[in-house]
Amino acid sequence: MKKLRLAYVRFTSCCGCQLTLLNCEEQLAAIDAVAEVVAFDMASSRPDDGGPLDAVLVEGSISRPEELVELLRLRRRAEILVAVGACALTGGVNVLAHGDRIELCEGVYGECAREKLTFPPQPLCRFVRVDLQVAGCPPERSEHLQLLGALARGGLPALPEYAVCMECRQRENLCLLLEAKQPCLGPVTRAGCNALCPSFGAICEGCRGPVTEANRAEESRLLLGLGLSEREVRARLERFSGASHEDP
Ligand code: SF4
Ligand code: SF4
Ligand code: SF4
Repeated sequence: MKKLRLAYVRFTSCCGCQLTLLNCEEQLAAIDAVAEVVAFDMASSRPDDGGPLDAVLVEGSISRPEELVELLRLRRRAEILVAVGACALTGGVNVLAHGDRIELCEGVYGECAREKLTFPPQPLCRFVRVDLQVAGCPPERSEHLQLLGALARGGLPALPEYAVCMECRQRENLCLLLEAKQPCLGPVTRAGCNALCPSFGAICEGCRGPVTEANRAEESRLLLGLGLSEREVRARLERFSGASHEDP
């Protein structure tokens, strides 16, 4: 069987998504059997050969002109482009910074930050066609494996289109929102993590981004009823829903 030519690249991100795939230690040999990985910074320093790709997995948002150029180049090279993780889907935690961009960058990188031109982090779909979005911060190991399995068979995986609450109720958890009166975002968040946080007694912070047709009005009403201010409600709901508000 012809091996899948695959690249896993990153832009503005923390590498957590790539690391999640590397953590699938028991499956790495099987992945190697079906895929020729031509670029994967976290796993190999071998230079990318620049040839055509069957698929490219992209972690991170776009916040620098060089990243945009590279993203466009990858789109031309790859038959399938998959946005992996909240940063790539919505901008993710990268959009949480508030304040003067240059001052913030200088606070981290010092004066050399002025030499780097940056713009507000943007999701991939702002610039290129995205064939599949894999949610999560980071996406689960199982989702990475499901994705690679489907790509190796020439298809794309079917990912959940329902809310975290569905998985949470299947696990028969106590409802932290209705019963413990805590500001859980499960009702408006895309499932796939098997309700990880509520299953350990912690509220869902919405890291997988908004579920399709999320009922934000009802979630807002419930959060306001818990005593949160309108500003706090808006901040919670927008944390992982994206860069969509800020133009590059
Ligand atoms: S989605 Fe989360 S884990 Fe993945 S790169 Fe962004 S911040 Fe890191
Ligand atoms: S705890 Fe959160 S995720 Fe679980 S059912 Fe309640 S609102 Fe939904
Ligand atoms: S329960 Fe919510 S915050 Fe926790 S991993 Fe799932 S989507 Fe993310």
